Amino acid sequence: MPSLLITGADLFGRAAAGDPDGRTDLLVEDGVITEVGSIRSAKGADVLEADGLVALPGLVDLHTHLREPGREDAETIATGSAAAAVGGFTAVLAMANTTPVTDTAEAAERILDLGRATGLVDVLPVGAVTKGLAGEELAELGLMHRSRARTTFFSDDGKCVHDARVMRRALEYVRAFGGVVSQHAQDPHLAGPQACAHEGELSGRLGLPGWPGIAEESIVARDVMLARHTGSRVHVAHVSTAGTVEVIRWAKAQGIDVTAEVTPHHLVLTTDLLAGYDPTFKVNPPLRPQEDVDALRAALADGTIDAVATDHAPHARHDKEHAFVDAAFGMLGLETALSVVSDVMVGGGLLDWAGVARVMSQTPARIAGLAAHGSTLSVGDAAHLTLVDAAAEVTVDRSASLSLSRNNPWHGRTLRGAVHATVFGGRVTAQKGALA
Ligand SMILES: [Zn+2]
Repeated sequence: MPSLLITGADLFGRAAAGDPDGRTDLLVEDGVITEVGSIRSAKGADVLEADGLVALPGLVDLHTHLREPGREDAETIATGSAAAAVGGFTAVLAMANTTPVTDTAEAAERILDLGRATGLVDVLPVGAVTKGLAGEELAELGLMHRSRARTTFFSDDGKCVHDARVMRRALEYVRAFGGVVSQHAQDPHLAGPQACAHEGELSGRLGLPGWPGIAEESIVARDVMLARHTGSRVHVAHVSTAGTVEVIRWAKAQGIDVTAEVTPHHLVLTTDLLAGYDPTFKVNPPLRPQEDVDALRAALADGTIDAVATDHAPHARHDKEHAFVDAAFGMLGLETALSVVSDVMVGGGLLDWAGVARVMSQTPARIAGLAAHGSTLSVGDAAHLTLVDAAAEVTVDRSASLSLSRNNPWHGRTLRGAVHATVFGGRVTAQKGALA
């Protein structure tokens, strides 16, 4: 692999913030950053001009649905990896709700190998908490951890581990090797499988089954207590309400080992988008009112919510184009995540670029135990980088996506800030919305 010289990059946006030393060159050799500073020449190196571009460590997504095996008509590990690379990601955690479910060491290793064969991002399999996501018997947590996949992150996402005894056992089990359980918090008695709209005046008027915030908040409250009781780690997937934020804030103040993520769509989109019954806006947990959106932004800014995760959920047309109640849950997210966070959090003055690096790379890497990701872009670090054009205005076009699916809720929106290029292991994987 030829060396790569990245010129004039603005490390973590420090130059734009006034630090004259923020702008620098980076030399990458054999996949590792070997020099940072003013580099006059690097013989034989490929040059990536990054004048004025913000350099961040490669983005890490704790919550991606890649659909392979089982639903390769919606996404494959190859197409999902391509969408991830274009979106600035260098590592994604692939959720376990595939067919078959990732609940054995063999299944986890197979996903790891398919990801490596594609070679665009690190694809890390999430292990199921329970066999077949049935919520009853623990999956092979220890065997998955001891497999080549070294799984430390477990989730039944798509379903809630709703039996408190099972959740307690899972937390006790993963504690032994420093693992974490990511919970899709949805009490099935308060929000059943049909629940699809934030419970409120609008859901009543539209005649859509309500999904009340308490169905999330009550599970999160229970789980933080289970984490305290077991001395183990719990991660809250896709926080969607102000009430959940309050619970997490309290739990962190008690020293409970809890982390949480928010999706780009819950930071912007609100429940009133459901008024037209467009299934593109059907997602689980549902879009919430503006008060919740405001609380989520504030919580991400103040660190109560640790990370942004996409919950990229591709669906084939024939699963999404139905009456609202019958359509599949979920939205695309990998290609637009950075632009959405840039637009709303940086544009809104809530995070600087170092903050974006923290919530989209460094903290998710730490939560998932990915030592090679989420670096400080220093000499000796693996060369996983994302270069961002902070001033670019992009209008999202769903037909331009590298995902196999088209359920893109951002179609037609103009966002400020875009991924210019992604470097994975010293190799440019994507540039300006296309694979390199
Ligand atoms: Zn989920």
